[in-house]
Amino acid sequence: MPETILRGFTGNDVPDAAVYDTCIRCGLCLQSCPTYLETSTETSGPRGRISLIRAVGEGQLDLLSPGFVEQMSECLDCRGCEAVCPSGVQYGRLIEPARAQIRRAQAATERLPARAARAFALRLLFTHLGTMRAVASLLRFAQITGLQRLASALGLRDLAALAPRIPPRAFVARGQRFDVRQAQGTAFLHTGCVMHVAFASVHEATVRMLGRGGLNVVVPSDQGCCGAIAVHAGEAAMGREMARKNIAAFERSGADVYVVNAAGCGSALKEYPRWFSRDDPWHARAERFSSRVRDALEVLDAVELPAPTVALDAIVTYQEPCHLANAQRIVAAPRRLLAKIPGLRLVEMPESAICCGSAGIYNITQPAMARRLQRRKIEAIAHTGANVVATANPGCAMQVGAGLRAAGSAAQVRHVVELLDGGYVTERIAE
Ligand code: SF4
Ligand code: SF4
Repeated sequence: MPETILRGFTGNDVPDAAVYDTCIRCGLCLQSCPTYLETSTETSGPRGRISLIRAVGEGQLDLLSPGFVEQMSECLDCRGCEAVCPSGVQYGRLIEPARAQIRRAQAATERLPARAARAFALRLLFTHLGTMRAVASLLRFAQITGLQRLASALGLRDLAALAPRIPPRAFVARGQRFDVRQAQGTAFLHTGCVMHVAFASVHEATVRMLGRGGLNVVVPSDQGCCGAIAVHAGEAAMGREMARKNIAAFERSGADVYVVNAAGCGSALKEYPRWFSRDDPWHARAERFSSRVRDALEVLDAVELPAPTVALDAIVTYQEPCHLANAQRIVAAPRRLLAKIPGLRLVEMPESAICCGSAGIYNITQPAMARRLQRRKIEAIAHTGANVVATANPGCAMQVGAGLRAAGSAAQVRHVVELLDGGYVTERIAE
């Protein structure tokens, strides 16, 4: 019988054996893994996935074997496992290169139309933000005219349900500058891709809150999407291209801190050094850049804020974005900020840090599991009796919002910064 040649990891972006070898197979991560909780299957948990990555790394399993591809796709990259691992396994350093390897191997055999569609979705949409704004305008038109119901009727129900209500104005990075008296420093505001078209009000609230915290804010026009979606989709080279753009924009700006109000983007921006090999001149620049990246909630928790005076009579529960709690380990700051708002009652939901099923484009690539996790999250929220769900990431806001609407709940989803900003008497910012 001819010997079967197994495809292993090759070239750049190889999962590091030193990382998977630190797994002691204790299983303490299993109960923090959303897909394991849903399936109770070893291969659908972190320990099983690490074993699969090791098997490919050691040449015992084919890179494109269906079981491997399925598990690398079913993983949410939510890093719930990483946050609880006693051995310090940096799971993100395994899953992302493993996906990049699969993607590269698949691309070699992909038909041209499939490649072109992928290039449109990723490159045009995420590197040319004008395209993103054009798509958002079409979506807004569909929402206003009721065409969105037609999309549902045509079988695009999940996508139509997921889309947030698009506001009339995007928050476009055009080189704006918002100065305050006696500033303590200058913050660079990252405006992102989805955030700038679908959550412009969060950016406006962030500018006001940073100003109250004594920071000038600049919004340079030469920034772009963080690249996380490209990397999650296995397009590592495209992700690096986006990273270089943001690093250079921050260096040119002269700002003291790079502020981001979307947890998934913040996590990616802080991990830019991992995207460049040590011999790449961009590695050192990425290290300098990432050391200055902060989530807006980290900054607002660290600065001195005047006490909010406008009460919010609401029961609020906090949905932890995985990339804030697990990847950036920011857990207490959002709760401390919410506690400052007079009248607000914070009721914790069970499993707050278990992923809601959003995870970048996961709810598009893995709709069945995404729906199961969405239902699980909505049930957890229902336990609290909350009429407001606070979060800090656009993906979570869309996924939880869609789940609440589907369940007939009137609860609203709001960003923590927006809720905090509502605690002050304020004027709309002049752009
Ligand atoms: S907790 Fe860490 S060491 Fe234990 S099985 Fe999970 S990844 Fe491996
Ligand atoms: S990243 Fe999330 S989904 Fe993937 S193995 Fe870890 S806990 Fe499970």
